[in-house]
Amino acid sequence: METRELTCVVCPAGCKITVTLEDGKVTDVKGQTCPRGKTYAQNEVTHPVRTLTTTVLLENAAAGTKTLPVKTNKPLSKELLFAAMDELAGFAVKAPVTVGTVLLKDFMEPGVDLVACKTVH
Ligand code: SF4
Repeated sequence: METRELTCVVCPAGCKITVTLEDGKVTDVKGQTCPRGKTYAQNEVTHPVRTLTTTVLLENAAAGTKTLPVKTNKPLSKELLFAAMDELAGFAVKAPVTVGTVLLKDFMEPGVDLVACKTVH
């Protein structure tokens, strides 16, 4: 039997959650004060994910802006985050670009797209 102590990050309350695992399977979750915390804790110990937010190079912008804020439209497996940043190291977008535009479809995982977070002319 193994126990993991977590702080729920789903809302600002930051509940302290204890997850019990046996043979890698969750057998008990305690400390959460709502169902979202239980789901978060179960996922965090079995398949942690994070939304990637970063910036990429921007070319051709009228105002001379050199970077564009981007994010994934769904959380990526946490284990892929460093590889994702490596993938984006040389990636550049040409202005104009509109907020919400899919820049890279199925980025790192099927169904996870990289999208623009800002409109730049
Ligand atoms: S368990 Fe619920 S109330 Fe507590 S931090 Fe998580 S989301 Fe917020």
